[in-house]
Amino acid sequence: MKKTTIQLPNGMIIGGSSLTLIAGPCAVESEDQILKTAQFLKNQGIRILRAGAYKPRSSPHTFQGLGEEGLKILSKARKETGLMIITEAMDPRDVPLVEEYADIIQVGSRNVQNFPLLKELGQAHKPVLLKRGFATTIKEWLLSAEYITHGGNPNVILCERGIRTFETATRNSLDLNAIPVLREKSPLPVLVDPSHGTGVARYVPPMSLAALAAGADGLMVEVHPNPAQALSDGEQSLDFTQFEALMALIKPLAQHLGRAL
Ligand code: PEP
Ligand code: MN
Repeated sequence: MKKTTIQLPNGMIIGGSSLTLIAGPCAVESEDQILKTAQFLKNQGIRILRAGAYKPRSSPHTFQGLGEEGLKILSKARKETGLMIITEAMDPRDVPLVEEYADIIQVGSRNVQNFPLLKELGQAHKPVLLKRGFATTIKEWLLSAEYITHGGNPNVILCERGIRTFETATRNSLDLNAIPVLREKSPLPVLVDPSHGTGVARYVPPMSLAALAAGADGLMVEVHPNPAQALSDGEQSLDFTQFEALMALIKPLAQHLGRAL
């Protein structure tokens, strides 16, 4: 199916023949953590920073995110580095605020069928990255995307992030089958998140390469200055050295695939 592309305010194109790399920590934890990461990523050639200010945590007793303070830190990082910002909205009531700060609004796995949220995002004026639910079929996921596109916002990016299976060796089973299936059934750009897809930092590089080889339009990877101290998802986050090594693997592959970074 013919692919649609999405343009960001900095001129970047998502989809088409370009390869989009999004990186950053799971959550905004502090200004220092974000500015340090943003500067590092910029030096690596990354143009989109990810980090959650509103975190969908399985336990109500763990770090829930900094909320608006986190959004302000992200905005400062954009001002200092020029990186585009992607961050998650969990509640339809937060969409106007998140939209004010973000360049791309993320919908997390747990909210893929939060229909009031999807309807609200149909009215938004920023692109939406829609993660796959860990228990949604590709068909259900595409119907969720249609809540946004048919609601009036055509700029949806799909992000495969692993599904729940009987396997326990990894946090999720990264469903790379989804890439060719989506390519056949949908014109929307498809990214892959190998961090949540595996849950283990050392499995992230091989699955990143596999995703690109299978035709993904890019990756979203968790990176943290000190994964051991991360307030969420430290086990699956790459440190700066590991990320730099991953970039050295991605560059020749992108060239081989004829896709511009
Ligand atoms: C995240 O991107 O940090 C996140 C919470 O991902 P998911 O919704 O895929 O679990
Ligand atoms: Mn995370």
